[in-house]
Amino acid sequence: MSSGKHLNGVRVKHCKNTAGQDIIPMSLPEKVFIPMGQHIGAPCQPVVAVGEQVKLGQKIGEAVKYVGAPIHSSVSGEVTGIRQEMSQMGVIDTIIEITPDGKQEKADSVVPPTVTDRESFIKAVRESGVVGLGGATFPMSVKFDVKEPLKVDTFIINGAECEPYITVDHRNMLTHTQEIVDGARAVLKWLDIERCIIGIETNKPDAIKAFRDILGDDSKIKVQELRQVYPQGAERVIIYECTGRHLVAGKLPAHIGCIVSNVSSVLKMQQYLATGMPLVSRSMTVDGNVVKEPKNVDVPIGTPLCDVIEFCGGTSGEVRKIILGGPMMGRAIPRDDFGVIKGNSAILCFDEKFAKQEQEKACINCGRCVRGCPMNLMPTRLARYWERQELELIREYDVYTCMECGCCSFVCPARKQLSFEIKLAKQWVMEEDRKAKAKAEAEAAAAKEEGGSK
Ligand code: SF4
Ligand code: SF4
Repeated sequence: MSSGKHLNGVRVKHCKNTAGQDIIPMSLPEKVFIPMGQHIGAPCQPVVAVGEQVKLGQKIGEAVKYVGAPIHSSVSGEVTGIRQEMSQMGVIDTIIEITPDGKQEKADSVVPPTVTDRESFIKAVRESGVVGLGGATFPMSVKFDVKEPLKVDTFIINGAECEPYITVDHRNMLTHTQEIVDGARAVLKWLDIERCIIGIETNKPDAIKAFRDILGDDSKIKVQELRQVYPQGAERVIIYECTGRHLVAGKLPAHIGCIVSNVSSVLKMQQYLATGMPLVSRSMTVDGNVVKEPKNVDVPIGTPLCDVIEFCGGTSGEVRKIILGGPMMGRAIPRDDFGVIKGNSAILCFDEKFAKQEQEKACINCGRCVRGCPMNLMPTRLARYWERQELELIREYDVYTCMECGCCSFVCPARKQLSFEIKLAKQWVMEEDRKAKAKAEAEAAAAKEEGGSK
């Protein structure tokens, strides 16, 4: 149950211009460009070749490591290229280009999976290709595959959608309420979890009502109303708000008895269980002050971002910033011809006024960044120690706990780029720790070898 206490956070202007708009399917693009790295973990290996005909839902990328999720074709057509190229993640990736034939014929493999126990359920979820659709892209099957002695008693469905502009989770909750509840029941049944909490911010009363109308007095699944505050949808925040349990840095939610899934991920999982169609499209909000017709769109994976923007009427004026995801935690990208990937919840396009970086001023010690930090960190100190390259102090001030939410930068009247500097500091500490661990392991292996040869 909720502790009644709350973590800090900030009030952001919501700009949810598309909240009243249903998600409409997008027309097929001329080509799709599907990268093999669409999730946390190693990229997939292509299992198709140039010239091959593929069908809708056919597997085209196999997950090669445990932390991974297969990738499926979003169209029927011909594989017309497999190349190494820069992906929207800023890394060189294998991109499969498919030219649709317009028929959208389903692959023979698209049949509902047989689920009879926990193992077959987790296998089915893996085959669905579903990952965290809120943007985290953690493979859903890996999240579900909790190893003993950990025991999960609470499944949290994240319907907070606290980022400004994005409204697709809200729309999915309104139009697919029953399917999401069915998905929640499947998770409780096959993973033997006692209860499910659907966390929704109070600014979506229609979604709260839709679930309550269906659930009635269901003893296992409840809706938890959440305050409208950013970053309510962050994993650690929603766990605390729904259960009163603290997730410390470096631990998984399962360590405190929880699994958290984004509401649209649960929907896609349930659709796979019911139909056998894996994740081949995703819903996205297209908005921003230069987009002519902001919309919620269901987009085939791999569709060029520029085609999606064009489907929404294109833009008026000069586009100076394109963000994938929300403005608080999303990523700015340099071009608009990348293919859509599973983790893209929104495309936001802005003009010069929005994109302009304000000049940083000196800190006035107002303390707003400290009060706004949901993790009770000291953003000023962390940023200062980064500037001075004080590795041990950065560690001491708990940089690992930073979830890069951006609240500190958002509230700073001096416009200091605190979260950016703290992110760099965190990467530095992680890299140093990784090197130290590798060195210790190498030394231990060498010592063992030396001991064995004596
Ligand atoms: S970015 Fe990190 S330091 Fe800044 S408010 Fe968020 S958690 Fe705190
Ligand atoms: S919010 Fe900005 S000005 Fe205020 S203490 Fe933090 S860094 Fe300084």
